[in-house]
Amino acid sequence: MIYLDHQATTPLAPEAREAMLRWLGGPDSTTFGNPHSPHRLGRQAEAAVEVARERVAALFPAGGRVIFTGSATEALNLALRGCAPVRAGMGVAISGIEHAAVEETARSLPNPLTILSVDGDGLVDAEGEWPAGTGLVSVMQVNNEIGTIQPVDRLYERARAAGALFVCDAVQAAGKLPIAAADMIAISAHKFYGPKGIGALWVREGVELTPLLTGGGQEGGCRSGTLSPALCAGMGVAAELALSRMAKDAAHTDRLFARALDLFAGWTLNGSATQRYTGNLNLRRQGVDVARLMSDVRQVAFSAGSACASDSGKPSRVLAVIGLSAAEAKGSIRLGLGRYTADADLEQAASLLETAVAAQGR
Ligand code: PLP
Repeated sequence: MIYLDHQATTPLAPEAREAMLRWLGGPDSTTFGNPHSPHRLGRQAEAAVEVARERVAALFPAGGRVIFTGSATEALNLALRGCAPVRAGMGVAISGIEHAAVEETARSLPNPLTILSVDGDGLVDAEGEWPAGTGLVSVMQVNNEIGTIQPVDRLYERARAAGALFVCDAVQAAGKLPIAAADMIAISAHKFYGPKGIGALWVREGVELTPLLTGGGQEGGCRSGTLSPALCAGMGVAAELALSRMAKDAAHTDRLFARALDLFAGWTLNGSATQRYTGNLNLRRQGVDVARLMSDVRQVAFSAGSACASDSGKPSRVLAVIGLSAAEAKGSIRLGLGRYTADADLEQAASLLETAVAAQGR
């Protein structure tokens, strides 16, 4: 199987797996403690969680704290539902290409909602207006479907000047690009070669949150529930590894991206060619039946549009927002390149896909 779906998830890095195994001990081990217990076993587990927290914190700007969550979806829900301006009923502004974790959450709030416009290159309008009374702006750093890098620095500057909090969904940026500054930032371990089932919300000092989950008061009272030392340790090592290899990993995807543009010369790139993370290649070709392509080329794991939307049978919302027709969106595929993608994988995938497209007479 050739894995080209790195926006959906990434394989676990061997280093992260190794770190996790140590905290998955059985009855004969000393590593199964509850990190919130006061005895020695508990304190050992707590120490592992705190080491992991520091490693994860190194991904973020200085001056904030890391709250572990079960996923980035939970982190974004905590940020959007739990912050003071939203609870006070102030307006919320998001872009038209946010992940469902932000979009659906924002739509479910009773607060007035503004959708910031996005151009044909898949870039949010950095000068887009939001009404007076907006207390929270949420824009992602890298789009999960088309890989475009958003002008979040400028949006944060404007939000600050307007007295609004700024949330950044950095799920597709974390571990790949330096994370941009914001008031709250959500990430997910399984997008940077860490385990599934753990995410984090970074919160700038001074930003108050009302918890979604109440109970034992863990995570400074912001997120009750027993943490998994194994998941924390895996996320911590994955974060440390991603930081130490960031330039190397970026050079690798840059090179693969350039090669892919040659191999897929008959396709058109969706989204800006320059303002993008090169591990994401969203391509369209007129008349291609992507559903048939996916069933013909089962040796390659890739996605039709967004992995989240692909079960729905509906054309991608993001591709529609950037101006693609329903037919163009339906003829689009997303290839996700990553740390362990070899040149030969990409070449073989391209050959299999091109052969299947030719068989469709396209
Ligand atoms: N935000 C973006 C941009 C994503 O790509 C995803 C996952 O696909 C999420 C949020 C949700 O992350 P999680 O799987 O940790 O809930």
